[in-house]
Amino acid sequence: MKAAVLYGKKDLWIEERDEPAIRNPDEVLIKIQSVGICASDRMYYFSGGTLRGIPKPFVLGHECSGIIVDKGKKVRSLQIGDRVAIEPGLPCNHCEFCLSGNYNLCKSMKFMASHSFDGCLVEYLIWREDRVFKIPENMTFDEAALIEPLSVAIFAVRSSKISKNTRVLISGAGPIGILAAEVSSLYKAKEIYIADIIDNRLKTAAKVCSAKTINFDNPTIEEELEEIKESNPVDVIIETTGSPQALENGLKVLKRGGQLSLIGLSVKSLPLRIIDIVYQAYKIQGIYRFANTYPQAIGWVS
Ligand SMILES: [Zn+2]
Ligand SMILES: [Zn+2]
Repeated sequence: MKAAVLYGKKDLWIEERDEPAIRNPDEVLIKIQSVGICASDRMYYFSGGTLRGIPKPFVLGHECSGIIVDKGKKVRSLQIGDRVAIEPGLPCNHCEFCLSGNYNLCKSMKFMASHSFDGCLVEYLIWREDRVFKIPENMTFDEAALIEPLSVAIFAVRSSKISKNTRVLISGAGPIGILAAEVSSLYKAKEIYIADIIDNRLKTAAKVCSAKTINFDNPTIEEELEEIKESNPVDVIIETTGSPQALENGLKVLKRGGQLSLIGLSVKSLPLRIIDIVYQAYKIQGIYRFANTYPQAIGWVS
């Protein structure tokens, strides 16, 4: 079978590999039908890896869907021929985090296209039954591949405890930001702002979701933010960019006692003084990947 293997910066090869076979009774063999290209795949391709570089060549891709073509003896929930969405992480299911339902924090997590663990840009994939979900007939394979980024948004909104009285600012109008705005409206948030510095992104956001757009690069931005802070400051910021400047702007409209949810990755430090965090009683939460989101996401999309 063919596999897209990354060796280093802009060094991607389509290689011939052996078709994998089922080794454990709880596994299924999936013929991959659609794979989304995530910002992290682009990052790996253009930069040649994260801080640690690429320890060994690996297959890119972690947003995928396919058809079950074989299954292990103990597999009950899936049948050959089922159309499925594949959750890209395999947690150990035994550790403290897994047992408490927070399997996104599992230290033994094997996540596709991360830390040189092979991803899903392959023709056939072996995966564990408990992380494979049947999709309904009316869902396309492309939609099913996008259950993964939708999961990131659902988990961010759910972890930020957004409900009908919440005013929320989504920082960053990329795919995850727009999805987070949409999910916030499904959670009935009272008011949703989405901010970016790129007009095109904000135009797309305005077209596809109900959020009010803010351009942090507007010459009148200080007054705009001041007005929001004075009239209706936000209860929650979901920061998807990892940019300290975006965060600094966002904090200008965060209510005292408000929640700052960080999902954008960055090696930079927070532009915040300890005294301000204490005085403003901000709750700061890092939100890592997602857990227990696939059934909900599939239900919503279908
Ligand atoms: Zn992704
Ligand atoms: Zn675990």
